[in-house]
Amino acid sequence: MTAPHSLLVTGTIGIDTVETPSARAERVLGGSAAYFAAAASRLAPVRLVGVVGDDFPADHRRRLEGLGPVDLLGLETRVGAKTFAWGGKYLLNMNERETLFTELGVVADAPPRVPAAFADSGLVFLGNTHPAVQAGLLDQVPNRTLAVADTMDLWINVAHDELVHLLSKVDGIVLNDSEAAHLTGERNAISAGRRILGYGPKFAVVKKGEHGAVLVHRDGVAVVPAFPAEEDMVVDPTGAGDTFAGGFMAHLARTGRTDLEALQTALSWGTVMASFTIGAFSLDGVAKATAADLEARYRLFARHARV
Ligand code: AMP
Repeated sequence: MTAPHSLLVTGTIGIDTVETPSARAERVLGGSAAYFAAAASRLAPVRLVGVVGDDFPADHRRRLEGLGPVDLLGLETRVGAKTFAWGGKYLLNMNERETLFTELGVVADAPPRVPAAFADSGLVFLGNTHPAVQAGLLDQVPNRTLAVADTMDLWINVAHDELVHLLSKVDGIVLNDSEAAHLTGERNAISAGRRILGYGPKFAVVKKGEHGAVLVHRDGVAVVPAFPAEEDMVVDPTGAGDTFAGGFMAHLARTGRTDLEALQTALSWGTVMASFTIGAFSLDGVAKATAADLEARYRLFARHARV
């Protein structure tokens, strides 16, 4: 049996401490896979694969369990290990951020195992984590029809070769413009995207923060603006990238399509999810929006912004 439309995500499940110019959130639930699942599960069921240590707070586990159609069969707890923890501080413009600390903990150990019941997944999202771990995960999902990865500066710096190897195995990559420039040496988002296609993927989504995103695909280029957010709408941008990816992948999963037109619509869903995420700390922005809120914002955005 295969499950061509099942969406599997892996990445970090972590404990975040976030400072903004006006507020601070201490040891809240975060991590790339947690944010992704919070957004994707608003549109389609999600299978989550990840590891935490035995210090993972019970409240955070309950929060994950309460997300809706997120299957936590692949969430492993390793005794004697520490959960991934990350601290970040936003600058006054709320766009740039500084990483204060990254404690890999259990993420630096053996990668999580994909449960047998998840091995038939059709769509795979490799959320931000070590590229060797991402590649190890991918090998455990042999029937996939679409694999998309995320990455970030840390991995471009410390695991460049593993990342290039990973790119030869995935269909798409989602990364921000500074990371794309860092990886390829190209400052222009489209040029950087094209350079990335040279490593193997069929498409690259280059995110440009408040200026939207560019999809560079073998079949063409598409752009999407960001949802216009005034200053008072932005409480905490953490997770915007992961929830963008969640909306993007879940739209593909629920439609079963991966052509250029579907990818364009998926970009809009990603943008909508990210716009809710930035309105609150942790997963709250995207998890607490009602289905009607999501739909209304998608309609507004698609009418005015989509090409
Ligand atoms: P984003 O704002 O979309 O880049 O995602 C931020 C989330 O990614 C936070 O919840 C962090 O816990 C997590 N994160 C930060 N650094 C890393 C890293 N090096 N690898 C994996 N996840 C990370």
